[in-house]
Amino acid sequence: MPGKLDTAITYLKGVGPRKAELLQKELGLYTWRDLLYHYPFRYVDKTRFTPICELRPDSGEVLLRGVLRRLETIGTGHKKRLVGRLRDQTGVIELVWFRGLQWLEKNLVVGQEYVVFGRINSFQGQLNIPHPEMEPLRPDNARAMRTMAPVYPSTEKLNQRRLDQRERRRIMQQLLDQLTIEDVPEVLPRWLTARLNFPPRLTAFRQIHFPRNEEELEAARRRLKFEELFFMQLRLLQLKHLRKRRLKGHVFEKVGDHFMRFYHEKLPFALTNAQKRVVREIRRDLGSGTQMNRLLQGDVGSGKTIVALLSMLLAIDNGFQACLMAPTEILASQHYQSISSYLEGMGIEVAFLSGNVKGKQRKAILEGLREGRIHIVVGTHALIEPQVEFQRLGLAITDEQHRFGVKQRAALWKKGKDLPPHILVMTATPIPRTLAMTLYGDLDVSIIDELPPGRKPVTTVHRTERQRDGVYDFMRQQIALGRQVYVVYPLIEESEKLDLLNLEQGYEAIRRSFPPPQYQISVVHGRMKPADKEFEMLRFVRGETHIMVATTVIEVGVNVPNATVMVIEHAERFGLSQLHQLRGRVGRGADQSYCILMTGYKLTRESRERIRIMCQTNDGFKIAEADLRLRGPGNMEGTQQSGILQLRLADLSQDGAVVQQARKIAAALLEKDPYLSLPEHQPLRRHLEEEGKQFKGWGLIS
Ligand code: ADP
Ligand code: MG
Repeated sequence: MPGKLDTAITYLKGVGPRKAELLQKELGLYTWRDLLYHYPFRYVDKTRFTPICELRPDSGEVLLRGVLRRLETIGTGHKKRLVGRLRDQTGVIELVWFRGLQWLEKNLVVGQEYVVFGRINSFQGQLNIPHPEMEPLRPDNARAMRTMAPVYPSTEKLNQRRLDQRERRRIMQQLLDQLTIEDVPEVLPRWLTARLNFPPRLTAFRQIHFPRNEEELEAARRRLKFEELFFMQLRLLQLKHLRKRRLKGHVFEKVGDHFMRFYHEKLPFALTNAQKRVVREIRRDLGSGTQMNRLLQGDVGSGKTIVALLSMLLAIDNGFQACLMAPTEILASQHYQSISSYLEGMGIEVAFLSGNVKGKQRKAILEGLREGRIHIVVGTHALIEPQVEFQRLGLAITDEQHRFGVKQRAALWKKGKDLPPHILVMTATPIPRTLAMTLYGDLDVSIIDELPPGRKPVTTVHRTERQRDGVYDFMRQQIALGRQVYVVYPLIEESEKLDLLNLEQGYEAIRRSFPPPQYQISVVHGRMKPADKEFEMLRFVRGETHIMVATTVIEVGVNVPNATVMVIEHAERFGLSQLHQLRGRVGRGADQSYCILMTGYKLTRESRERIRIMCQTNDGFKIAEADLRLRGPGNMEGTQQSGILQLRLADLSQDGAVVQQARKIAAALLEKDPYLSLPEHQPLRRHLEEEGKQFKGWGLIS
């Protein structure tokens, strides 16, 4: 049922069809609700009177209090204007009007004391205030005038067409004057507003538009921000509940021999506490009877693979098969090798499948999967082809999930027979907790926030072209110690040709400085045939080449513990998370590793900041937080199209505590009343539905 807030803005006094159209076109404001939610982005302090002697050309909007002294009409025709003088105890300032002269002449009273609000203008060295707001000072308005004036987001066009700040304030005031408690009912349960000490909803709207002081503004903000995040969390959590209810999952009830034997006899190291915690979380999911959908986040090198392996053993112990899908052949084959060697002698059948596995071999693997002889299959997206059938797939794991599309993941779901397999999505792209909670609100998130002991942090330095010889000397020293080196160039589509040229020139330069036969160099870039790429990568992985010159294709998960130096050329052109991913390629062995960020001399402030952060910390989460701060949440990976982050007040990079509070309360509330069917929750539900119409496509995110 449409309420008053659904009224079109044309039905507001003073907003004709022309202004309405402008507000629609320029700001997307159609209804009273849109207007109400269109918050000021700053405020002009009208709580303090400025003495006239303190006025400067750049004083901006000011509030004055003084006596109107003279008032005279000057000029003729369209140059005609009304000029007044306002005097306080400290000085005099000119007031000028160009429009509505008749009315003003009739109503302004010389000798009367006024409260005056306007923007300081400087004309030929003289200060004046064009079109000030004038309010006769009376005992009853001496206080009322003293508010904070809202400043709304605006555009050039709006300002030109008489929809300036003053007019916008007038329109907002109109709107607020007409709204009653019935039009803007309370949506939060009373116990909640009481507990958090929130002002009533309508009051909060009034106060965010026209706060009388900082305290009022703060209270309004606190409430509206919470509300925004609270409804977002309610929506996400409900989605999750709904899915849980819908999707029953295989029950892995026992922790069996394979798991136990591996854990106690074969595991070559003790798990970190973070790994233990995550394994527990996964075990709980797998035994719960509902399908697991878990995102496993862990910085590069945090040891996600072993967690994946332990989870797969749980599947096998319960009579199921498991698969692990990686985005590239090389990654898949590395996983295959490490998993096979971990499981040697345990009687577990592990297979590898990619597009390159053909003929008899392929047939045998497909058969083995269908008949259940193969317990674990590791591979590329070849795993999701229709020919691949499982006897009983219980767990599907994907590594480096941002490389896979939603479609590919959905295809994995369908590989289960009667029930979908449990899903574990692993990613090394750290997403700040607050953002993860919001983006993946319908996924459970596990975080490995601890590196295995003894890891030496990578030493990161910034070098410019002038220091290149020194960098090359350092590379030679490391190679002499038996280590390997990456040299990485940026490659982005828009400048692909130029970038390839860079890479080629760079390669030539490196070859001149590192000549064969003493030095062997691999080159890998996106234009090469996959098989050639593969070949070059393998030479480096096997230690046959000393230097790997590459575009960012190596970014994803390759593991060469012997590589200790990562040189990133044109480092200023990479984003923070990319730099961090690249750096993660070194520091995987026992030796001290280094990351060298090469840049030109001239850097923008932002790239300088990125480089500084990289040199300062190795902590992926800190870097992700910084990235979020520098780029804003709208640019974070995966959020662009989701529309999920179109928040009005809240800022996910700053309001982590409020997100958590909102989520906790929303979760507790849904626990008690999952369908919001209690009478006291009806306002909540109605509001959720109403707002829901404005967010489409939430379900697309998984
Ligand atoms: P990532 O999370 O980047 O996939 P990996 O699973 O490849 O990390 O692990 C990185 C390295 O750390 C591997 O060589 C692995 O054997 C080792 N590792 C993992 N967990 C531990 C641990 N608890 N103690 C010591 N080494 C570990
Ligand atoms: Mg990995």
